[in-house]
Amino acid sequence: MGTLRLYWLDPYTYRFKARVESISGRDVVLDGTYFYPQGGGQIYDTGTISGIRVVGVRREGDLIIHTLESEPTFTVGSEVECLLDWDRRYRIMKLHSAAHLLYYAMQEEFGEECRPASPGLTDDKKSREDYLFKEKLDLQRLQKVEERVNELIRAGFEIRTWSEGEKRYWKIDPYPAMCCGGTHPKNTSEIGGVKVGRGKKPGAGKERIEITLLQHST
Ligand SMILES: [Zn+2]
Repeated sequence: MGTLRLYWLDPYTYRFKARVESISGRDVVLDGTYFYPQGGGQIYDTGTISGIRVVGVRREGDLIIHTLESEPTFTVGSEVECLLDWDRRYRIMKLHSAAHLLYYAMQEEFGEECRPASPGLTDDKKSREDYLFKEKLDLQRLQKVEERVNELIRAGFEIRTWSEGEKRYWKIDPYPAMCCGGTHPKNTSEIGGVKVGRGKKPGAGKERIEITLLQHST
């Protein structure tokens, strides 16, 4: 039996109880978890399991493995109290959905060839993604992209996520669905507002676009 991916059932749960399935050194597997494992362009969650810091979360096959800062004091079969760093995770959720809005706004402004060159990475500070660019990036047009993203945020679109077989989808009304296994808020308005900027140039024919949240509190 794999680990139940509870973060998909409710991305807003940050405190939960779980049963310990296995322990190997500092690595712990639970029967189900709300800790998001690194992947799909989203950084892993941090927090505590039975008061011990979680310093890494990864997926191996159908198991989710939490790496603790020190060897656990609990045993296999016991029930543990788990707590996510919610402020951090909520910022990640907002920035991840903002990265999806950016994708549509970039396509509208720069055309379909302007696609992400790699999955990018969203953490609690910023979202960064490399887009293919044949020409020089016009910063005034990037400003228009920022305005469009903020317009979509203010419009308050419901964000829907669902599973179909092995795949997970993300959608807001104006656009077609996209594949995404990340965690997201329920409505674009929760993002609040963002700044879109140009990052360090990643190489020829590409531009790094970065998103930060306007307010860092929740
Ligand atoms: Zn995504």
